[in-house]
This record gives sequence, C-alpha cells and structure tokens, in this order.
Amino acid sequence: MTQEVFNQQLCQFLGLATTPFHAVREMSTTLASSGFELLEEGVAWQLKPGGKYYLQRNGSSLVAFIVGRDSAPVEGMRMVGAHTDSPCLMVKPTPEKTRHGYFQLGVQVYGGALLNPWFDRDLSLAGRVSFESEDGLLKSLLIDFREPIATIPSLAIHLDRDVNKKRSINPQTDILPLLSQISDEESPDFRELLKARLLQEHPDCNVGRVLDFELSFYDTQAPAVIGLQQEFIASARLDNLLSCFAGLRALLESDGALSTLLACNDHEEVGSLSAAGAQGPLLSSVLKRMVAGEEEYVALTDRSLMISADNAHGIHPNYADRHDDNHGPILNRGPVIKMNANQRYATNSETAGLYRMLSAQEDVPVQSFVVRTDMGCGSTIGPITAGGTGIRTLDIGVPTFGMHSIRELAGSRDGWDLSRVLRRFYNYRGSLVAS
Ligand SMILES: [Zn+2]
Repeated sequence: MTQEVFNQQLCQFLGLATTPFHAVREMSTTLASSGFELLEEGVAWQLKPGGKYYLQRNGSSLVAFIVGRDSAPVEGMRMVGAHTDSPCLMVKPTPEKTRHGYFQLGVQVYGGALLNPWFDRDLSLAGRVSFESEDGLLKSLLIDFREPIATIPSLAIHLDRDVNKKRSINPQTDILPLLSQISDEESPDFRELLKARLLQEHPDCNVGRVLDFELSFYDTQAPAVIGLQQEFIASARLDNLLSCFAGLRALLESDGALSTLLACNDHEEVGSLSAAGAQGPLLSSVLKRMVAGEEEYVALTDRSLMISADNAHGIHPNYADRHDDNHGPILNRGPVIKMNANQRYATNSETAGLYRMLSAQEDVPVQSFVVRTDMGCGSTIGPITAGGTGIRTLDIGVPTFGMHSIRELAGSRDGWDLSRVLRRFYNYRGSLVAS
C-alpha cells in the first residue's frame, strides 16, 4: 500500500462511517473479508493459535485480535486503542417542532461539539433504529439518509450586528435543523418518516412500529485531500476515525506471528463510562477469555502494552500562543506523543521510549505535546484503559486543527505514518518491558 491509496481508503471510510454504528459495520466488513471470524460474546469461544477474530458490543464498539502463531496471549498482547464516536447533534426522542410553516427536529449535543461550524451545512441523518416487527419481535437496523435533508441556517448579520464580535450559541434554541416546509394542517410524525426509510433501505425488514432511535446529523460534504500540494485531509470525524482506520490497516497488514489486538470503543467523547465504552468491561472481558485463569491473566496484563491513539492539537499559525513554544506539533511532521505530569495521559518514559524506538526503525518522525502549564489538559481512553486493566499504556495521535468541528483538518502524511508505526509495533518481537 502507498500513502495515496491509504488516504483514498481513509476518505472512503470516513464518508461511510457516519456514526459509531456505521464505523463498526464498515470495519467488520473489512475484517470479515480479510479472514477474521466473528465471535459472539454470549457463546463459548474456541480460540486457536494463528486464529483471527473480532466481536462487536452494542454495534458501536469493536475488538479485533489475532492469537499469535508463535506467541500466545499470555506472553503479552500488543494492543492499539481508539474510539469510534465524535461530537455531533443527536435527535431528541420526541423531536417534532413545527413553527411558521417549517418542520424542524429538536436535538441534543453529543460530546464537546464546536457548534459554530454546524450552521449553513448540507446535513444528512444516520444511526440505529429499534422497532417492533410485524410478528412482535424487537429488532434494530442501521439507516443513513445519505442525501442532504436538513440545514441550520445562520441568522443574517443585519439582524445581529455584533455577531462577529460576540456570538454565543444557545444549544436549546439556536441549532434546530430545518427539514422542510409544511402546510398549517400537517403535523409530521418523525417515526413514520423513519419507518418509510427503513423500508427503503431494508425492504424485507418487516417493520411494524418504530420504537426508538439513536440518530445523529452529519455533514454531507465528502472527505477530501486538499492544499496546493495535497498536504491536508479535510473531513468530519477525523477524531477519531483516522486512528481507528490506521489501527485497522496495521492489524490487517501485521504478520500474525505475535498476539495482537485493536479496540475501538464508543462513548469516549462523553467520558467512556458505558457498557460499550473504554471504562466498561469489554476489553478486560475479552483478554480474560484468552487465558486459562487468574494467574495467566495477571501475567498477560503485566507483559502487554496498549498504544492509545487519539488525535492531538497541532500548533495553529493564527493562534500560536495556545501552545508551549517547545511543544507545538506541526501537521505532517509525525504523530505526537502526549504527556501530562498529572496523568491526563497515560504515557511514561518507558512507553514513550518504545514508541520513539519503533518510529525511528520505521523512519517516521515523532513530536511531543504537553499542554501549556497555565491551561487545563484534555484526556482520552489511555488513562482509562491503564487504570481499568493495569496494562502499561501510552497516548499518541496525529496533530490536527479544528478538533470537534464539523470539518477537521489533518496532515495527509501523518495517518499513513501512524499506521506504519502501529504495524511495526504489532510485529515487534522485543520485550515490551524495559529491563
Ligand atoms: Zn478523540
């Protein structure tokens, strides 16, 4: 694979993975077609050396792993973590609003969304719909309208003269997407609309009544490689589907000799505490099933290492004072090791050292990030995984601009570089523990 092909496939993935459910579906399709076997959590597993497996939880989190041909899981797992969710606007349970002949939907803000960029976009809607089938069974299916079916128009500057100086957004009143115009007699029923969409996308779904849904709006502008010399990738959900994709490519291209794993969890943007989130028991439950008992499980955790991959903040040329002078990552100059003395990131000198070593072997540059000492620091799934499992962990990620915007920006080289370092990690036969 070349960088160009990697970026083409990344853009295709970003365009199809419009929700965590769709991201897991796309990754599952790729894994299945690459010889990975689907496991059910509720059924006994018969894992074999050389076997390749994956499983889903809630349809929105995914774990894929290889039982090494030459090295059993108890000898130590090489693991990569990322998250499938991104900040967005989610439709409320009773969303219909009709005012002045317009049909709008009430929304909740999921995660720390940057709201300004949501105005004046051609939006579509996707997610999971749960319904009662005609024969009285509970079912769920994914839908994605694909077409632009909504927008949130800005207020004209003439009606808010100070807007460029002091704009604030009220998420309850200012960001309701507008779907259509209706007559005074009409009262649209959102569940009926979903039923029609279910039948269109899944003609045999036998839908009786739509019960509930988890649907979010997204921008229909396609992901693109941009810049005078194609330096950048512009897309929604780069945080953190770029890392999911880089980890997946690395796993698929690893040599399968060692025991390796990729965990992509939902709900990172809202704190990770859920049945499918990184603070839930998914990862430890999978790892426990790979070994014979408690003694072996402790040995596995002691010998394993997790690289938690989540995007970092590049130093912005217009706002350079938001970074420490010596820790301002630049796009296309390599993935970033994230450090924080107060353990907002799980990196320590040994785990960072290993990552630097692997990057040098792959001829990939490395940058490092600490937040300004007078500013608060974000966090990610690294400390949560380390705290929950006791496995040594480090936090890294490619530098980006506009994190949590509806369209973020990354360097067109960094994702490819990240994926190659992760593949080298999966194939790394040395000890993961410093002696
Ligand atoms: Zn993230």
